[in-house]
Amino acid sequence: MDAREELIDLLGQVKKQLLYSQEIGLDAPTLSPHSLHYLRKGLQLAIEPLKENFSCTSLEELENFINNCDKCRLSKERKNIVFGEGPPHARLVFVGEAPGMDEDLTGKPFVGKAGKLLTNIIQAMGFTREEVYICNIVKCHPPHNRDPERDEIEICLPFLEAQISLIQPEIICAIGRISAQSLVHEDFKITRERGQWQSFRDIPLMPTYHPAYLLRYPQAKKAVWEDMQQIMKKLGLKDPRELKD
Ligand code: URA
Repeated sequence: MDAREELIDLLGQVKKQLLYSQEIGLDAPTLSPHSLHYLRKGLQLAIEPLKENFSCTSLEELENFINNCDKCRLSKERKNIVFGEGPPHARLVFVGEAPGMDEDLTGKPFVGKAGKLLTNIIQAMGFTREEVYICNIVKCHPPHNRDPERDEIEICLPFLEAQISLIQPEIICAIGRISAQSLVHEDFKITRERGQWQSFRDIPLMPTYHPAYLLRYPQAKKAVWEDMQQIMKKLGLKDPRELKD
């Protein structure tokens, strides 16, 4: 066990103990808001990796900060970092899993087949694609389209957190299993728990199926549309159109 693993293990034990004390009604020690936040997150990936302090005051600054990132193995084979795009104060942020091949080539999120379907969904909600913010849990393409691994997610997550805290959206839509597991809790079951409001850093979060899944199972579009209708309702949007095939 190296020092980092030991620290993670130790924190896990302390966390369990604190949660247990809370459960049996013992007064918790005074904790910083950050620690309280960590405790409330339960099973979520909460340990941030060794990371240098960064504080960026704009998305542009954050994007420049991430430029040339080589903190994980995904940097070795990527062609472009896919930071994300959209208005700096979008009301709605979609968070996918990881850039695919098309995104790696262009440096833009959701531009392939699944991206086209996502654009249709966004338009059916009454938005243009340019009115929402679109990004991913990890910013670099995992080779052979494999799922991003846990340590890659942990290394990249602070960048997404910074991105979201700069945007301060009214709603986050977590697209697909990996996104929901990274933002809600690691045992999140997308088939059972999609469509139920969650939160990320106190921002309401709606988990839904990934458009790549919809391409394989078009019958799941109805469920996604129901999830989008919940988002529209919370945003006060009217006139839902039928989701086109
Ligand atoms: N799938 C994702 O999760 N993100 C993208 O940007 C493209 C495909």
